[in-house]
Amino acid sequence: MRQRHALIPTLREIPSDAEAASHKLMIRGGFIRPLAAGVYSYLPLGRKALRKLESIIREEMDRCGAQELLLPALQPAELWQQSGRHSLYGPELVRLRDRHDREFVLGPTHEEVVTALMRDSISSYRDLPMTLYQLQTKFRDERRPRFGLMRGREFLMKDAYSFDMDLGSLDRSYRAMYEAYHRIFTRCGLRFKAVEADAGAIGGEGETHEFMALAAIGEDTVVSCLSCSYAANLEKAEAQPIAGAATAASSAVPACESFPTPGLHTIDQLVGALNVKPEELIKTLVYVADGVPVAVAVRGDHEVNEVKLKQYLQAEAVSLADDDVIARAGGGPAGSIGPVGLSVKLLVDRDAARIASAIAGANKAERHLRFVVPGRDFPLNHTGDFRNVQEQDRCPRCGGELAFSRGIEIGHVFKLGTKYSDKLGLRLPDASGKPSPVIMGCYGIGVSRLLAAIVEQHHDERGIRWPAAVAPFHVHLVPVAAQDREQMKLAESLYERLSLIGVEVLLDDREERAGVKFKDADLIGIPIRIVIGKGAAAGLVEYKERDGDSSAELTADEAVERVM
Ligand code: ATP
Ligand code: MG
Ligand code: MG
Ligand code: MG
Repeated sequence: MRQRHALIPTLREIPSDAEAASHKLMIRGGFIRPLAAGVYSYLPLGRKALRKLESIIREEMDRCGAQELLLPALQPAELWQQSGRHSLYGPELVRLRDRHDREFVLGPTHEEVVTALMRDSISSYRDLPMTLYQLQTKFRDERRPRFGLMRGREFLMKDAYSFDMDLGSLDRSYRAMYEAYHRIFTRCGLRFKAVEADAGAIGGEGETHEFMALAAIGEDTVVSCLSCSYAANLEKAEAQPIAGAATAASSAVPACESFPTPGLHTIDQLVGALNVKPEELIKTLVYVADGVPVAVAVRGDHEVNEVKLKQYLQAEAVSLADDDVIARAGGGPAGSIGPVGLSVKLLVDRDAARIASAIAGANKAERHLRFVVPGRDFPLNHTGDFRNVQEQDRCPRCGGELAFSRGIEIGHVFKLGTKYSDKLGLRLPDASGKPSPVIMGCYGIGVSRLLAAIVEQHHDERGIRWPAAVAPFHVHLVPVAAQDREQMKLAESLYERLSLIGVEVLLDDREERAGVKFKDADLIGIPIRIVIGKGAAAGLVEYKERDGDSSAELTADEAVERVM
């Protein structure tokens, strides 16, 4: 591709609303452009990188015998009513009506559609096992779309669904996907961890793992053991039986009858006080400082939780975001401004500076944390006590020491069981002729999020450093002066030679200053750069890797050889 007529609108300025490095760099590098909150256009460079991911994923899916299909994004609401998720999914589900006033949804995931398809398409257990997958746009009206491609409202997902006749067979299908995911993320050049996870909103009770790309910006917390292979997401780790000191510590927390009481309020206490089922409050900690409830975190149905928490906290207002609860209570001691809620993800940091800057950021953004001043309203000297119950704990498997890190959920594998086949009537006669529900699994990869996660792990202050396997181009040819005939001649001949042997080349044939070209090249981050400058007359070029500092002067032939 020639850069002169390519749509690569690089920017010097950092987009003002971008917080994550991947978000900033992909906009500045001309990979993506926003259209609305959480909705992005992929420009040619972004599309190319995304295609690389797609083909790695296709190869690994095909390799383990999964078959590609393409299901509709537009789905009759009736299917979702049958599965019970039409009401359960909440406001994240995009709902619409057609001209005949029939209700539809835009698929946030495809369990319903694929189960109905299989119900109408197969008739015998002998057709199974079978795994189907697609690469497709998903729609989720996220409460807080952010970090660019990381949490979009329209995003690309690879989703796969397995169909088996018995649990042993499900286990084999699950393992095949689990291993394929390891190969996919390894090929993408990622540092990642597969962690035990919680069942969450998809439902089902079976085994489930999340794949976490390790990165500071990650919204999830990964708990891993320093002595054994145990790794879980925080929700799961907290739900597991704990060995060691923390159990004693948390059971020593005073009971929560006469709230507000200083101390950590555990999930059990809240479940009792709020009169909810444990699954409605997956994760809850309340820290009370000086008689004021300071922080709460809840997962579950937001609207239900808001009402109940308001009562429980004797709060004037409670507002829940995806991963945090903000409470302003009136019940604090005289002179107190009231409680401040913070994301539990900040709590586990035990990092006063981070909490303070989050509040400052929220003030700026005029969110629900408006008018809150750290130190005045929020006792920073108490942050040492913002300790997750787990932090003093030992590994549930071996009793070893635990480490905490941040992760981006890039993939999720899930044993669904018969939840959807039961509801949607996917039953097949078994060996004895008795109809029984097919056992399912589902497996997702956030393809567009994966692209962002790669950039989070592969960049420096100058720009992106694409791993070769997913780079939009392999080689960036940069003639220093495009108006210099000697330089352009050598550049063109290199372009031809490399293209002929299947190397993808971007040729910067723009008549720009050298400084501009080099800055753009650093920003775009193509792994190999070949600069054609004064040495062109003697057939010499400069060969440089984006990942390293050194460069070498080579003949054109040597440069071609080194690329190969
Ligand atoms: P999260 O916890 O981040 O909201 P999820 O658990 O709701 O994700 P799944 O239903 O497991 O997501 O979907 C499969 C995969 O799709 C996720 O592992 C993630 O990589 C990706 N994904 C989910 N939501 C988004 C989104 N809003 N934008 C981009 N990718 C997403
Ligand atoms: Mg989600
Ligand atoms: Mg999740
Ligand atoms: Mg998930």
